Amino acid sequence: DHEQEVDLAPVVQDCLVLVDHLISQHQIAVDCRFDPVPLVRVDTGEIQQVIVNLVVNAVQAMGTGGQLDLLLRPEQRDGAAGVALSVRDSGPGVPEGQLSSVFDPFFTTKRGEGTGLGLSISQTLIQRAGGLITVSNRDAQGAEFMVWLPAE
Ligand code: ADP
Ligand code: MG
Repeated sequence: DHEQEVDLAPVVQDCLVLVDHLISQHQIAVDCRFDPVPLVRVDTGEIQQVIVNLVVNAVQAMGTGGQLDLLLRPEQRDGAAGVALSVRDSGPGVPEGQLSSVFDPFFTTKRGEGTGLGLSISQTLIQRAGGLITVSNRDAQGAEFMVWLPAE
């Protein structure tokens, strides 16, 4: 495998560089708040794939204009130290009735455009790394996807 001890902050930054053109094309404002976090043991390429998926989904949901917030912070889950990455957008959010379906393979609301595989594959990769991925709607507006990974 390609697992290494990884600092997620530069990995997230690299992902933003990859989608920089898309973000400026859609006139999305990006705000990053990275707290110091412990290292995680992951395959960097796989984690990048997950983060890019989440950011592209957020941009597609917002269309033109909008606010993308990326937050990295230490977080304990069930007594285990870890790292949480939140991807928050200011789009329409996920309809309540679809919250439990978005991780299903081939679930998409993008007629003719989406494969519906991005979140399904992301969930598989994150779970294989011992972590978890969740979705919720924000109080104000938009969706929040949270990836948690156990500390090394
Ligand atoms: P795809 O992007 O090909 O549709 P995904 O697995 O990446 O497939 O996403 C599945 C579905 O989840 C999307 O079609 C959309 O309905 C919903 N979704 C994902 N991210 C967001 C988001 N940030 N805001 C609103 N809905 C979202
Ligand atoms: Mg997608």
